[in-house]
Amino acid sequence: MNQDRQLYLDYAATTPLDNRVLTEMLPYFTDEFGNPSSVHSWGQRAEAIVESAREKITLLLNAVDYQVVFTSGGTESDNLAIKGAARSIADQTGKRHLLVSPVEHPAVSRSAEQLMKESFKLEWLPVDSFGFVDPAEVARRIRKDTALVSVVFGQNEIGTINPVEDISQVCHEREVFFHTDAVQAAAHLPIKLDKSRITSMALGAHKFYGPKGIGALIYHKSWKIGKLQNGGGQEFRMRAGTHNVPGIVGLAKAFEITCQEMGQSSNHESQLRDHLIGSVLEQISGSRLTGHPAKRLANHASFVFDKLSGNTLLMILDAEGFACSSGSACRSGNPQPSDVLLAIGIDPESALGSLRVTIGRETKREDINAFISFLPKAIDSARRLAA
Ligand SMILES: *Cc1c(COP(=O)(O)O)cnc(C)c1O
Repeated sequence: MNQDRQLYLDYAATTPLDNRVLTEMLPYFTDEFGNPSSVHSWGQRAEAIVESAREKITLLLNAVDYQVVFTSGGTESDNLAIKGAARSIADQTGKRHLLVSPVEHPAVSRSAEQLMKESFKLEWLPVDSFGFVDPAEVARRIRKDTALVSVVFGQNEIGTINPVEDISQVCHEREVFFHTDAVQAAAHLPIKLDKSRITSMALGAHKFYGPKGIGALIYHKSWKIGKLQNGGGQEFRMRAGTHNVPGIVGLAKAFEITCQEMGQSSNHESQLRDHLIGSVLEQISGSRLTGHPAKRLANHASFVFDKLSGNTLLMILDAEGFACSSGSACRSGNPQPSDVLLAIGIDPESALGSLRVTIGRETKREDINAFISFLPKAIDSARRLAA
């Protein structure tokens, strides 16, 4: 066991807070603690900082015709978009058909499933073996009663980047609401909403070196999204609850830094990613890449290995100081193969042997080399334990 090594390779699960973001947030925990809804000057100053954060995000996304609604994170943004939009569209038009990709984050897929209990009809879009949704397939499946379409932008388990601009165009032409979960993609791809035709998009700050527990839903102002929680009139009556002012400041600052430094960090991360993917596939028999080899998140490598348990592999790696993931959130008890891996045609047994390695801005080539040199031993041990 290597007791000294602590190498974090799970940046798709969460990232550390950038120090520049922390510095920007700190005053809003202490001196500037006002509630933006208060009438007095503390409240006014807090309101001004929330509005300037909203403005910053709007400008970074070229989102002039869009509303930025602050939420508690990616999960809430997805819930708000799927349930809020579907219910409001159904109320106005009677449309109750939902077209959702089978490679969505559970925040989207479980929300869509919940709507089936309210007599919505849920249809899963087909995906190919890389996890791509074909825009032509979306066009073919949109019906007169289709209320919304949802396709994840950058997939969190397999890294594939979907052709979201083409899918959103298809939906726009048919006047169908199109939601995309960009919680992973926003960290790696420049997104400009003015040209995109995306109707709504989910962000979460902790996936791009911002704080946990804060996110945003950005949606086109020509659509109505119903609120999910009752209370005060914050966020244009869309999201009741006192604003998380330090979080909102942190989200905007983290997103600004991410956009400014994206070229540099994506370049660095994708070089390490390709080095890692190449070495793993070459050195380890019975290994397969999951997701597309090129059209994938810059920091994201994901595999399945024959004849082992992914959970065992994670524990062996962790004991050597390497923090990785199996890709899906399920951690304990009776392991179930990931829905995403099954959807792209991986057999259930292989799907239990998954590994996700995600790289960060600070990850070094030596780190990846240390990982590559230990991985074959870890795989051998995991296979012996499974045999
Ligand atoms: C992490 C993640 C979420 C959930 O975001 P939280 O801010 O953690 O709630 C949703 N979708 C994707 C693709 C993610 O990676």
